Amino acid sequence: MEGIYQAQQQLLKAAARLAAHGWLRATSGNLSLKLADRPLTIAITRSGADKAELHEDDIIVWRNDQVIWGDGQVSAECGVHQAIYQRAKVNAVFHVHTVANNLASARTDAPCLEIRGNEMLKALGFWQEDAVVRLPVIENHSNLEHLALAARKALVAEVPGLLIRNHGLYAFGTTVKDSLRHLEAFEFLFEWLLTA
Ligand SMILES: [Zn+2]
Repeated sequence: MEGIYQAQQQLLKAAARLAAHGWLRATSGNLSLKLADRPLTIAITRSGADKAELHEDDIIVWRNDQVIWGDGQVSAECGVHQAIYQRAKVNAVFHVHTVANNLASARTDAPCLEIRGNEMLKALGFWQEDAVVRLPVIENHSNLEHLALAARKALVAEVPGLLIRNHGLYAFGTTVKDSLRHLEAFEFLFEWLLTA
């Protein structure tokens, strides 16, 4: 499988970093990398894997609704990854459940969480002095098809994230480095919002 070895190493490294923050508890979260566009082919953590102690064989390859390389099943949330790759021009999608992102998502009933007045907005690509980031927030549908559909509708081009209420955050970018920076910036901002 072309590109899989490099993808495995990148995902293992990213997962170790997120685990060091304590953001991959109880097998939660999932990480993916795009391997090809047409048809959309992604390397993704397999369902049930302990992402805090991820191994090469925990990364599988998914295309056209099926696993085409590796053993195991993709997470039920793979549809959200797919929606993000189809709507945004990105190559890496990371998802974590944290106490801070859950609490931040519950601070508003609105379809977006407004964040302003913090230097860390620059890490999300917002450089203007009066910048406001409107992070889309969707409800946590138990029906994963509804969740993927809601994600597809809610995504906005300029914001590299999506919050699912009382569930978790998706952050993405054109490189692994960008996705990690976006994820860490959002989590910083959630913690700051909660203590402000
Ligand atoms: Zn999740």
